[in-house]
Amino acid sequence: MSYNDNLKLVEDKISRAVARSHRERSDVHLVAVTKTVDVAAMEKLYDLGIRHFGENRADVFAEKVEAFADKPDVVWHFIGSLQTRKVRAILPYTRFLHSLDRVSLADEIEKRATEKMACFLQVNISEEETKHGFNAEEAIAFVKAQNYQHVEIIGLMTMAPNTDDEQTLHHVFQGLKALQQEIEKLEIANVPCHELSMGMTNDFEIAIEEGATFIRVGRALVEEN
Ligand SMILES: *Cc1c(COP(=O)(O)O)cnc(C)c1O
Repeated sequence: MSYNDNLKLVEDKISRAVARSHRERSDVHLVAVTKTVDVAAMEKLYDLGIRHFGENRADVFAEKVEAFADKPDVVWHFIGSLQTRKVRAILPYTRFLHSLDRVSLADEIEKRATEKMACFLQVNISEEETKHGFNAEEAIAFVKAQNYQHVEIIGLMTMAPNTDDEQTLHHVFQGLKALQQEIEKLEIANVPCHELSMGMTNDFEIAIEEGATFIRVGRALVEEN
């Protein structure tokens, strides 16, 4: 399978999931997660039309951004767990931060940012002990208590459990959507919370059916079978 074939397959699955749920293709942003591949591989994806790239390590992220300096239409997403001391380095080129998983990280972004930073609050909706993020109650308490000028909560992000059980996956994504709507309704300044970042290689079709607006797909795009 070439990258071209991979992308066709993924786009096909997106189109079908979008159709099943009576949504539009343009409602769903495909973020190519390129944490396991090098710049040459990313250039292939770029040539196939991919513009949203997601990375999860601050150091590698900087190198890759640098390599694409001549392509200003690339949109960079940071999706990994982020150390507070790396915030300053990644802020200038991060358009979306999917992994706002603790108050201290938000405080640091608020302090370092000079303009608004679009963030997804990472929610551990399935309350797995191994996963980062706020639980539902903590997420609500957080958005109500905060008063940030730079940290903008554009939506919620979750990572579903690693399972093939479709019921469980539907349930997790429905849970994130319900929480997103609940927070959206609060109409808090700098917390529009319209977006849902959910769905990876194993579960992006289900995530789309449940309302994902950003899917983060790695292996299905970059694995060469
Ligand atoms: C690696 C990763 C992905 C992509 O996972 P795949 O299974 O390769 O599609 C998505 N989101 C996060 C946060 C990741 O770390």
